[in-house]
Amino acid sequence: MPTLPALKQFVSSTGVRIYRISCDVLPLLSGRVYLLLGIETPTLIDTGSGSGICTSQIFQGLEEVRARFGEAFSWGDIGRVVLTHAHIDHFGGLPEIVRRTGAEVAVHALDRRAVEAYDERAARSNFAFDRFLRQAGVPGDRRREILAEFGYVKGRIESVAVDRELIDGEDAGPFRVIHTPGHSPGHVCLAVGDILLAGDHILARTVSQLWPESVAAYTGLGHYLDSLKRIQRCGPFRLAMGGHEPVIHDLAHRLEEIRAAHQRRLERLLEILSGAPEPLCVDQLSERMYSRQRGYPALLALTDVGARVEYLEQLGRIGIADIEHLAEQACPVFRYCPA
Ligand SMILES: [Zn+2]
Ligand SMILES: [Zn+2]
Repeated sequence: MPTLPALKQFVSSTGVRIYRISCDVLPLLSGRVYLLLGIETPTLIDTGSGSGICTSQIFQGLEEVRARFGEAFSWGDIGRVVLTHAHIDHFGGLPEIVRRTGAEVAVHALDRRAVEAYDERAARSNFAFDRFLRQAGVPGDRRREILAEFGYVKGRIESVAVDRELIDGEDAGPFRVIHTPGHSPGHVCLAVGDILLAGDHILARTVSQLWPESVAAYTGLGHYLDSLKRIQRCGPFRLAMGGHEPVIHDLAHRLEEIRAAHQRRLERLLEILSGAPEPLCVDQLSERMYSRQRGYPALLALTDVGARVEYLEQLGRIGIADIEHLAEQACPVFRYCPA
């Protein structure tokens, strides 16, 4: 495991003290949670994955806030946990943290069900991913391998009651809620004065993972790009900090880079389709874009391409080639060609 960045304090233009605590959320993936102090209700933003030593790293970080920065604070004072979104690396630690702090839980309505009824969401997602992979043209053995490695496992996360739904535009004490669907349906960014807590919507180095809307409503590239515009309208921000990766010092520049990266990938897909002698399914497109992946990385590559193909089809830039056969099968493979 690479070394985690040290605990760091940031102070917003509104005087809120934001402590960035790093933790190992998944093998080879580190995450960030944020403790907000200098406000009526000490608030924790996100909770890590709950796996391995992640939760103990968060509690060590909370202890360090007191020891290193002289904050008269103990973790029992945390009165509220806010989730930027309900992906496992952000809310898997929630049950244990709520047990130990007694904090109330706040999340956007569109991600609420994953927190309160995890097993139902897991079953629902596996069904939707299986259908997506069939339509993408992924053969049975690889489909089973991909789904076996996928993180939605029944009983993996204990369900927790949500106390409050976050509403777009509301001023929830020290921060303003900005609903930014795309990476997840109920994803929110939080504006704390001149600092943006960006969750997984905007990261310093990587482009956020995309999912097709056919798998989960309010995801997809169209929603994601609209949410980027929304952040631009809410700014400017002096700093942005995501759920992973370093601090973003020039958010306007980073937004431009992300938009350009999406544009390049869309153009590359159109180029592949235009140059192909016959229509291609998402599996074939994914192999040409990202080479052949296995297991979980294969699912990420397929959903990325699936979301882009869906967006191009929504815009009328590409079409489905064999429409006359679609009605004949329960779950046909979709093959695409330029419009
Ligand atoms: Zn995420
Ligand atoms: Zn994440």
